[in-house]
Amino acid sequence: MKVAFLGLGNMGHNMAHNLLKAGHELVVWNRTSGKAIELKNAGAREANTPAEASQTAEVVFTMLADDPAVEAVVLGTQGLINGLQKGAIHVSCSTISVALSRQMAEAHQQREQHYVSAPVFGRPEAAAAAKLFMVAAGDKQVLDRCHPLFSAIGQHTFIMGSDPEMANVVKLSGNFLIASVIESLGEALALVSKYGIDPKVYLDMLTSTLFSAPVYKTYGGLIVDRKFEPAGFKLTLGLKDIRLALAAGEGANVPLPVASLIRDHFLAGAANGMADKDWSALALVAAQNAGLK
Ligand code: NAP
Repeated sequence: MKVAFLGLGNMGHNMAHNLLKAGHELVVWNRTSGKAIELKNAGAREANTPAEASQTAEVVFTMLADDPAVEAVVLGTQGLINGLQKGAIHVSCSTISVALSRQMAEAHQQREQHYVSAPVFGRPEAAAAAKLFMVAAGDKQVLDRCHPLFSAIGQHTFIMGSDPEMANVVKLSGNFLIASVIESLGEALALVSKYGIDPKVYLDMLTSTLFSAPVYKTYGGLIVDRKFEPAGFKLTLGLKDIRLALAAGEGANVPLPVASLIRDHFLAGAANGMADKDWSALALVAAQNAGLK
């Protein structure tokens, strides 16, 4: 298929590469153009603007940092929406607000373009290995057309409903849960560390017994090994997602008291020089609050 990919950060670069490997014709665009070099060497063409990248594409993916980035790249004057043909599809993979997803759905519909939401679970390593979990929502026939592309970048696609914003709510709820695990692991590890227990031995016990889920293994490992750099997922992006989860909760009168607490701890982390560390550095905030280094 003719595909365009906008946003070649930690995630997007790997996803675009897998689309190319699967044999699709690829046009790429990134705000900082140097990031397209490897993909160009592998056969992709680089466009000068999001609109230009989208002109010939049947499907355009966006994988950008946050709401302002997506607004600029999709709805701006040189934006995707001004290049995309009628009947072509925009697949939004970024973790963004429910409100922006709704706005884009309306804007695309007015132009007779298709829009689906397909945020992903999995870190850059999973993106490189085409092992992402896709959480998709939108018109079923449009999602069916995207299926071969989803298969090239992920190991499974979960369809959440016909309204694109449903996928965004699911993604935000999932990241809220991951952040809750990081927070509680950080607190538990601070507690046992203060009593002289070896954190590695403790984590091995947890993940070999009741807490064997990947989320405990992945984040527990990062925390006990203090592998907060380079960031697979920056603390500031984690803060963004908790804020978006809180906004989604507010939009439907759903209190999320644990999310409020985690938001404050992310802020404390950012204030203490952790903004560019991995979001698992949230555990450092718990450690510092306990007087540990
Ligand atoms: P990243 O490495 O920080 O990359 C961000 C991308 O957005 C870059 O291409 C960047 O362009 C672009 N960008 C930022 N601001 C922009 C603006 N104002 N205008 C145009 N482009 C802009 O982030 P990432 O880790 O790939 O994450 C991308 C999305 O995936 C985020 O929504 C994140 O929440 C989500 N996500 C991440 C992970 C993870 O583990 N990393 C997992 C699942 C979902 P430049 O290169 O020019 O800066």
